[in-house]
Order: sequence, then structure tokens, then C-alpha cells
Amino acid sequence: MPDPVDRTEQGTPRPEGAPQPQGAPRLEGTPPVLRPRRPEDFDQMYQGTPPWETGRPQSAFLALAEAGAIRGRVLDVGCGTGEHVLLAASLGLEATGIDLAAAAIERARQKAAQRGLQARFVVGNVLDLSGLGGRFDTVLDSGLFHVLEDDDRRAFLDGLGAVVPPGGRYFLLCFSDRQPGELGPRRITQDELRAAFSDGWRVDSIEPVMIDTVFQRAAVHAWLAAITRT
Ligand code: SAH
Repeated sequence: MPDPVDRTEQGTPRPEGAPQPQGAPRLEGTPPVLRPRRPEDFDQMYQGTPPWETGRPQSAFLALAEAGAIRGRVLDVGCGTGEHVLLAASLGLEATGIDLAAAAIERARQKAAQRGLQARFVVGNVLDLSGLGGRFDTVLDSGLFHVLEDDDRRAFLDGLGAVVPPGGRYFLLCFSDRQPGELGPRRITQDELRAAFSDGWRVDSIEPVMIDTVFQRAAVHAWLAAITRT
């Protein structure tokens, strides 16, 4: 029988009402999913509130929108519950989001309806982007690339190259190697990003930014890369 009382590492009961997103890695104790990779990992995390599920766009993407960098036909890869798709839609853009977690896509569709925004949400695998049947001028990636294993990364980049015409841009927000610890997705170096996009792409910039999380004091060191299809 599991202990019904939520306890901290020290064994003291958690005060009632203390924030504890369900299904998310805990700041103390053993997280249910240390490093989500497989579809069922994400499905499980969306049964509760995953740590990235802040209910608003990442600050780094809000800044891109303010700078006018999000334009044309927009695709959000691994869109989760759709905040960045809805950000693009709110700019009057044609926006598509794809994610393999059906629960996330369902929530994204609900949010679009609640906010009176038009957007296309697809339950699908980013390793098969050509199945979407479209071309995209701006691709947003908030936390997808760092989930992919090496082989999947190559397959993803092949598909991405096929749906982004020359001049199209890819904005990638990922955990950086400056983030200490092991919890969460793999850390990515600037060199790794430059190597991954050395053929058919131009890396315009890689900036150190933070990924916002549901934990007030736990933003994550990230890279924001701006990359253009050549
Ligand atoms: N972009 C969202 C979610 C980030 S978490 C946000 O910023 O809130 C990473 C997301 O990628 C999860 O929603 C997960 O379901 C999705 N994902 C992981 N591998 C995928 C794949 N192969 N195809 C489609 N989506 C994938």
C-alpha cells in the first residue's frame, strides 16, 4: 500500500496546499520519470502537470514574437499543449502544432477554443514531418530537440529539411551543458548544435537563455539557437 501522505525527503509531511505538480519530477524525492523519451513517458507526464507546463509561452519565444521573428506559416514541433502555436495564431499567422502525446493535443485544442484562436493540432511523430503535407517558414522547437536520441535526431533533421524551404527559420530552445545535474533531458553543447546544422543550414546565433518551469526558483539554463535553411 503506498504511503498516502506526500512526504519530503526528510520524511516530513508536505504542508497542505504546497505546490506539487502531479506527474512532474519532484524537487525532492524520486521523480516518476527521470528522463522522458518514449511516447508513454510523455503520455504519463501529461496525466498531471509536467515541469514545462507553465500555461504561457516561454519567455524566449515571447521575445522572438516581439522582435517580429515569428512569421509566415508556422510549425511547432513537439508542441505540447500548444502555447507557442497559440502565440503564433494570436499574431494572425497560420500555425500548426504536432505532438505524439494525444492528451497534450487535446488540451491544446481546448485552449484554442477557449481563446477563440484558429490553429491546426496534429497527433503525430516529428520523425515523419513530411506526413504533414505542408511547407513552413518558421519552425518553433521548445524542448523537443533535446529529447531525441542521436538516430532520431538525424531522422528528424532530414524531415525538417524537407518541409522548410530556403530562407525558412528554425528556433530551437534546448537544455544547455551549463545546466548542472542530471535531472531532465540530455544537455546540449553549442558545438553539437553547430555540427547538427552544418549541412543545409546556417546557424545565425546561439544565445544563453533560461527555460521557464512551473517551479518558481528553478529556471533551466538553455540555448536559444536561430538557424536558417540555406
Ligand atoms: N513544446 C512544449 C512541450 C515541450 S516537452 C512546451 O514548450 O511546452 C517535449 C514535447 O515533445 C512533449 O510534449 C512530447 O510529447 C513531445 N515529443 C517527444 N518526442 C516526440 C516525437 N518523436 N514526435 C512528436 N512529439 C514528440
